[in-house]
Amino acid sequence: MTKYKLAMLNGDGIGPEVVSSARSILETASQVTGLELEFIELPVGLEAYKNFGRTLPPNTIEGMSQSDAWILGPLQTGSYPKDDRDYPMSSGKIRKYFDLFANIRPAKSYIPKVASNIDLVIVRENTEDFFPNINLFKGYGEFWTDKDTVVSLRVIRRSSCKRIAKTAFELARSRNQKKLVTAVHKSNVLIEGDGLFLEEANRVYEEGFRDLRFEQKLIDSASMELVLKPERFDVILATNLFGDIISDEAAGLVGGLGFCPSLNSGEKHAMGQAVHGTAPDIAGKGIANPVSEILSSVMLLDWLFSHKGEERKVYETARVIERAIKKQLSSQDPKDKTLDIDGNASTQEFTSRLSNRILVDS
Ligand code: ATP
Repeated sequence: MTKYKLAMLNGDGIGPEVVSSARSILETASQVTGLELEFIELPVGLEAYKNFGRTLPPNTIEGMSQSDAWILGPLQTGSYPKDDRDYPMSSGKIRKYFDLFANIRPAKSYIPKVASNIDLVIVRENTEDFFPNINLFKGYGEFWTDKDTVVSLRVIRRSSCKRIAKTAFELARSRNQKKLVTAVHKSNVLIEGDGLFLEEANRVYEEGFRDLRFEQKLIDSASMELVLKPERFDVILATNLFGDIISDEAAGLVGGLGFCPSLNSGEKHAMGQAVHGTAPDIAGKGIANPVSEILSSVMLLDWLFSHKGEERKVYETARVIERAIKKQLSSQDPKDKTLDIDGNASTQEFTSRLSNRILVDS
């Protein structure tokens, strides 16, 4: 049987709390299914800066390269000390370094808060747009041209549009739900860049996905429609910045950032990472909702299953966790939920109850 090595990178703010919860759930579920997992911890963010003077030390990159997949906590984007040798460090840097070009962000109703029947996935291009490749441009591609003016570069490549579109169409086909891909854009203003994005999406559709439906919507009207009729969406294809914004909107619709996992994936590597940030207002208080990070590890298991040899136990471990989360979140007992969703469980209490559920139900 294959043994998988998972690298755990805590990150900043609530990162250590939610990553440790995800690890504990993976340990319990794999114990139940007999899946062999090995964990290694790698420093990143402020923890790494304190010990090594940089937020993404070479040993961390090396450790990631030698692992099968990674779980990353949030990083406090843009606010590291200026003498950090990796400045400006962000999760974007890791995504670009390992060419994790697709950011898959599902938004699903687990609790009926604002809407009850949402099941959509945002497929966000992860390496360029207004956050262009740091190998080409310093910082995020922003420049002062004089004391009054900042110019921001937006980079859109044909090859990147093509591969992210293909990812979105393949996902819509494999989900086998509404079989609809909605490309969101602002091509009436960003004529060249979003024109190229749509041209490639259309080409990918015409050449291999005519069994699906494909539509193009302006980002502004799509954002409104997402609030009014969220249930009509299936897979939303977006460039980097629009994808980032619209996924927080979708998060709000399903009850908040505590429910929004994501997978960053490329040809060779994948990384699970909750959509939320470091949540500095609650960091260290032990009250963060770990569900997004746990569901991100479920996505990571599914990626391992489809990319590393279809080991059945990997798939089963993902389903065991998913079932337990659904059950726990549908419970009326406030001890089964964290504070952000009107429960009273701490992160640790939530995690222990989820672990017990996994053990009892399996
Ligand atoms: P950053 O600067 O790292 O992006 P932020 O505060 O701007 O942090 P988020 O971390 O995404 O943005 O948090 C937005 C709000 O959602 C905050 O009030 C935060 O406490 C809350 N929040 C985010 N994640 C969680 C979570 N896992 N559990 C509970 N509340 C959360």
